[in-house]
Amino acid sequence: MDFDFNEAERDVIQTASDFAAKKVKSRAREIDEKNLFPSDLATEMGRLGLFGLHMPEEYGGTALGYKAYALAIERICAVSMTVGAIIAINSLTQEAILRFGTDEQKRQHLPRLISGESLSTFAFTEGQTGSDPRAITTTAVPEGDTYILSGEKTFASLAPSASVAIIFAKDDTGKVSAFLVDPKAAGFMIEKELETMGIRGEDVCPIRLNNVRVPRANLVGEPGKGYNVLLTAINVGQIGIAAEAVGVASGALGMSLDYARTRMVRERPMTDLPTIQSLLGEMSARTEAARWITYRTADLKDKGHLRGRDSATAKLFASQAATDVVDMAMQIHGSYGYTKELEIERLYRDAKVTQIYEVVSEVQRLIIGGSLAREA
Ligand SMILES: Cc1cc2nc3c(=O)[nH]c(=O)nc-3n(C[C@H](O)[C@H](O)[C@H](O)COP(=O)(O)OP(=O)(O)OC[C@H]3O[C@@H](n4cnc5c(N)ncnc54)[C@H](O)[C@@H]3O)c2cc1C
Repeated sequence: MDFDFNEAERDVIQTASDFAAKKVKSRAREIDEKNLFPSDLATEMGRLGLFGLHMPEEYGGTALGYKAYALAIERICAVSMTVGAIIAINSLTQEAILRFGTDEQKRQHLPRLISGESLSTFAFTEGQTGSDPRAITTTAVPEGDTYILSGEKTFASLAPSASVAIIFAKDDTGKVSAFLVDPKAAGFMIEKELETMGIRGEDVCPIRLNNVRVPRANLVGEPGKGYNVLLTAINVGQIGIAAEAVGVASGALGMSLDYARTRMVRERPMTDLPTIQSLLGEMSARTEAARWITYRTADLKDKGHLRGRDSATAKLFASQAATDVVDMAMQIHGSYGYTKELEIERLYRDAKVTQIYEVVSEVQRLIIGGSLAREA
């Protein structure tokens, strides 16, 4: 692996950092407080090309690769995880269509999802399960040239802005299949967004499917092979979440340094205290390690060598690093950090979700360990 960024990757870092500093920073608090989806910022990210960094040029992407994708997410999440995570969430459907979609599906959906003209939602989780595909109860019953989808999904991020949804449902094979569904279809109902603890403003919604008729042509991949679609998409989503974790950790480190430099303890800046230096050192080391495992994993994907356990490893490690780093950052900020006056409490809430969504850490460990055991 080349440890230097090429010119195009440096441009991505510059573009994402400028966007974060000039457009996102001043909005981060309001998005969180009001649980407000930043649709204008999502549109702007599309205009800047940030949804197409890993997508082929023929659909409007720039084909710079998954490392560029991770770099953009990281830089924006350092300022607002809600905004940066939009890129990772949108990438789930993009990746599913790119790897498993028909030419027609690619032509119809990818250009709009890459330009930011519209977004997508990826609905796997149900009330009774987010971790176990066998427990899915949403059904897809074949009827002529269509399937009739019925059931309930929940935690579907970006749902109200989506022009297309990927819905996972059990079909007549008894296994899970993936379907592209038009959210405007009769019987497709998006309910009020959930009040989440962190990454607020992501428009995370329950969806009800009441006999939604979906053309057979909207199957993504083969019938009964939806789990492959899910895993392939999630492997890319997990690189994105690892980058989110690195972003939020580096944001917390930066805030802690700023705070400790200006806060006085016994007439000296807090940064003079060995205990604070020790915390900063630990935060820096963990962030840096998480950063490089994330880049390395993205690089494996770019080179076509990514295994499921690689993205699981990156997400597991980076999410643990982020939750530890924000905890240390909170300690540096003391009681003021615990108030809504300072921003660190938002990062503290945001970081936690990286250990939960798109495969909980407990299952990640089993995936990695199981893969190693089988190899042995
Ligand atoms: C902000 C946010 C956005 C989200 N966006 C989306 C989205 O866009 N689309 C979507 O489909 N979902 C989304 N989700 C849902 C998320 O992916 C799931 O909630 C997640 O996969 C965990 O599933 P669960 O909540 O059912 O947890 P459960 O599966 O109930 O797990 C709860 C706990 O049980 C334990 N556990 C469960 N299974 C195992 C096991 N096999 N081995 C060992 N321990 C286990 C673990 O300790 C785990 O933490 C989102 C969630 C949040 C919070």
